[in-house]
Amino acid sequence: MTRSTPLRSAAVIAVGSELLGSTRLDTNSLFVSERLCSLGIELRSKSVVGDSRTELAAHLRHALERVDAVVLTGGLGPTDDDVTREVVADVLGRPLEEDPAIVAHIQERFRRRGLTMPEVNRRQAQVPRGAVVLANPLGTAPGLLIEHERGVIVLLPGPPRELQPMLDGLVAGALAERASAERIYRTSLFVVGRSESHVEERVQPIYSSWLRAIPPIETTVLATPGQIELHLSVRTADPTLAADTLASARRQLREALAPDVYSEDGRPLEEIVGRLLQERGLTIAAAESCTGGLLLSRLTDVPGSSAYVLGGVVAYANELKTAFANVPADLIDRHGAVSEPVAAAMAEGIRERTGAAVGIGVTGVAGPGGGTPQKPVGMVVLAAVLPGAAARVRTVNLPGGRNQIKFNATQAALDLVRRGLLASA
Ligand code: AMP
Ligand code: MG
Repeated sequence: MTRSTPLRSAAVIAVGSELLGSTRLDTNSLFVSERLCSLGIELRSKSVVGDSRTELAAHLRHALERVDAVVLTGGLGPTDDDVTREVVADVLGRPLEEDPAIVAHIQERFRRRGLTMPEVNRRQAQVPRGAVVLANPLGTAPGLLIEHERGVIVLLPGPPRELQPMLDGLVAGALAERASAERIYRTSLFVVGRSESHVEERVQPIYSSWLRAIPPIETTVLATPGQIELHLSVRTADPTLAADTLASARRQLREALAPDVYSEDGRPLEEIVGRLLQERGLTIAAAESCTGGLLLSRLTDVPGSSAYVLGGVVAYANELKTAFANVPADLIDRHGAVSEPVAAAMAEGIRERTGAAVGIGVTGVAGPGGGTPQKPVGMVVLAAVLPGAAARVRTVNLPGGRNQIKFNATQAALDLVRRGLLASA
């Protein structure tokens, strides 16, 4: 690579033995990834290495063979275990030289605190020959930008509050100059009510053809709690082409999966349901058993939701289902609390009691105890009553522990309302 060849690919190496333990996570790479992506530089790998010269040298050599830009974070402190500068100089075969301006900067920081600079801090003024020094206004360790024949190496201090403004400066300046005109554009679709393999079966034939398109579209299918996410990205120098390509891709996926795609702009299900309610001028109330108020909590996480959320009741005891949600006691006796007639009666009852247009009932077995062969842990019954329609009732069997079952039950309940609202449009 010559100086004029644009940077397209990158690797991050987070340095620090503390990051290998069980208490601290590398977060710097998330920030670096996001910033590089904004320049169209794709992060190909990231690694975490301890304060070990041999490990770091091996990772650095590996990265230099594979990517244009290597970003190292951490290991720039003044102590013996801060080895990043030395390893980089060693791998590049360049001598380390003391930079008097850095010494002066560090001395000044100590002087302002009424202290003199300990000699060990001179280590932080050691610079591989030819490196550009990046000022660190918030700490003693400067960053370094090194051009070499195949690309660039960037060294940044580990503390996020020091690293972040320094990287922002590079992204606005030196790295922007070295990036290509291409940028990475992303979009995502959220799918509810289908399994990951189900989604994959439907969309794989579509997205596999996109890899040969121009520009190619990269697709990732990701299972997250309560939903499947489809992440798409294209890389191009033409913003209009990117927008058109992604819009057409989204349309194909939506058509293949409709009506299971609920969001194309990152908004969560509770917000989508809230918007549908508002568009139709409807209010909502819920009677919750196994979700303990989580459903109303999620609905009211949305700013402005008091315009359409009236309220509801958390009713675990059968007597409360009767007293607060008008569920006939003999209905519970006959069918049991976790049953379709009771869920429907909870939805209808809370609607009557609150005067809401839409009523939801949720009842189920969140576990880990309390399951029976007929009503196992994870069995949840949901009901939604909308104006002018029969109650929509669904029984689902949800996997996972108690929290996951509670969350997925709210997801299924919100989805039931969403589908009901779409059908009543
Ligand atoms: P260092 O530059 O290695 O002296 O790192 C100093 C401090 O920065 C560490 O104690 C951590 O608190 C923080 N730090 C270092 N590396 C990372 C990282 N990859 N992600 C988040 N914090 C980090
Ligand atoms: Mg360290």
